[in-house]
Amino acid sequence: MNPRQYHKEMKALFAELREAGERPTLLLHACCAPCASSPLTFLPEYFDVTVYYYNPNITDLEEQDKRFEELRRHLAENYPRVGLIRGAHDEEKFLKMAKGLEEAPEGGLRCARCFELRLEETGRLAKQEGYDFFATTLTLSPLKNPMLINGIGEKVAEKYGVKYLASDFKKDGGYLQSIEICKAQGLYRQNYCGCAYSKRI
Ligand code: SF4
Repeated sequence: MNPRQYHKEMKALFAELREAGERPTLLLHACCAPCASSPLTFLPEYFDVTVYYYNPNITDLEEQDKRFEELRRHLAENYPRVGLIRGAHDEEKFLKMAKGLEEAPEGGLRCARCFELRLEETGRLAKQEGYDFFATTLTLSPLKNPMLINGIGEKVAEKYGVKYLASDFKKDGGYLQSIEICKAQGLYRQNYCGCAYSKRI
């Protein structure tokens, strides 16, 4: 079976929305400004976007604050109409989930659970606040498996009855574009994923 072409599916949805003259609301989970930068160049054309910064995996509070501040600045300077919500730090939740998986390699079970943690909360909030769709910028990273991320997103969508926008934001030069935007705007681009375990790898 051919793997799903998430990027093509997303573009087909954009065409449908345009055709129908619809502009749904979207709660977009983001882990940092670099990962949000490229998706934000086109998502606000089709959705009323609110970015949700919920990343309990970044247990270092200074790093949490730094990434959030860069995201806030990026939105304020470029997308003043895009909303921004900061979620709880929830460090304990992440540490409990990661217990026994500290040595797991990046891309393994700890990461799958980490995606689940963040998407579950994004789906829950989307339902609670009445968003039409939710999504995540995590698929921008070439190191992260879009099938895994989107599979989790779709399960959460089923649970909460909110639509999930499956994506592969690295496609169409999305990842390279994010690097260019970071350079042009002097955005902080961290050199590790987020948890303490990814820092020492
Ligand atoms: S490496 Fe990244 S995705 Fe994996 S557990 Fe750590 S923060 Fe989460």
